[in-house]
Amino acid sequence: MEAYTADDREILYNKVQETLKKARSNPMTIAKQKKSAVEVAYLEELEIEKFSKKLNDYKQLPLQAKSLDILQINLGYLCNQVCNHCHVNAGPARKELMSVETMKDCLKALDLGGFSSVDLTGGAPEIHPDFKWFVEQLSERNVKIIVRSNLTILTFSEEYHYLPAFFKEHQVEVIASMPCYTLENVDKQRGEGVFDASIEGLQILNSVGYGIEKGLNLHLVYNPGGPSLPGSQEGLERDYKRMLKENFSIDFNNLYTITNMPISRFLNDLKSKNKVEDYMNLLVDNFNLAAVENVMCRDTISVRWDGVIFDCDFNQMLHLPVIDKEYQHIKDFSKKDLENRNILLKNHCYGCTAGAGSSCQGAIS
Ligand code: SF4
Ligand code: SF4
Repeated sequence: MEAYTADDREILYNKVQETLKKARSNPMTIAKQKKSAVEVAYLEELEIEKFSKKLNDYKQLPLQAKSLDILQINLGYLCNQVCNHCHVNAGPARKELMSVETMKDCLKALDLGGFSSVDLTGGAPEIHPDFKWFVEQLSERNVKIIVRSNLTILTFSEEYHYLPAFFKEHQVEVIASMPCYTLENVDKQRGEGVFDASIEGLQILNSVGYGIEKGLNLHLVYNPGGPSLPGSQEGLERDYKRMLKENFSIDFNNLYTITNMPISRFLNDLKSKNKVEDYMNLLVDNFNLAAVENVMCRDTISVRWDGVIFDCDFNQMLHLPVIDKEYQHIKDFSKKDLENRNILLKNHCYGCTAGAGSSCQGAIS
């Protein structure tokens, strides 16, 4: 694989700067921020026991981080899909992309932070014009590189056909969304044609050894199609393995079950069906104290495309940065302060502690 030259990077850097300028004045971005504040207030005003009170009753407050293990980096909200339940509200019209300067700040934080993994997300992170360069920089470091792929990007257009071999070369772990093993359910949630393109993407990844060879990990992510909790992770994994193998000769490593968070598009969907209170009550009634120990904010920080740091991806979508203003940006990264920080909790956090619990790595208890 050819690395980007300094000239290539200069051109891309300028391109991204132009995009960023547009994104900062993009009415959609500004409207989205206002909408997120409304979402937080809306969830806080529901007649349910506040999440922070619940934790206080169990003597869990303040909830503190335990370590800095995973640096999750959101490269931008641009995506080739527009899924019904997307908590990022991503899509082709989004313009936010991380600048090369901020990527370099992330690399510095990685060198200082002692993280074991970098988790690249989006949107579709592979769409970012500096994705290849960034992964090359990461692979020079002793960290596990995770890419959250929607699979359809692998066959979306010719310029992304390099990805499976590139992932293999850099031993990238691929975590791919696959909310069901049937066409009907996947297309309903993620858009027409997504199932077939996802199957093709998985077969291509298998063809280079993903899900088969040691060190080439391919994990799938399941989330429920509606306002219910995920079933047993082990049971679903067995079903997925059998169905995908029998019908499409597909192999993968693990299935992660993730609870739908009551924010963004999923919250809108609940509102339109008048089901917000039912869903929140379901999450509250299934509160699981054991899951609190392992909620992902305790060993992860999430960096937004513009460098702002959040306790997790969900707080990022709600524009709730880490509490202390002195280290709210990745350029001001402070391992000492961030690894012991108090976490900002709101009622959407019930989504992480219901049933078997939920994180970007699946069930947590
Ligand atoms: S593929 Fe992922 S990021 Fe893109 S719209 Fe769907 S859920 Fe959102
Ligand atoms: S939503 Fe974020 S801050 Fe809240 S418990 Fe889950 S991971 Fe932690």
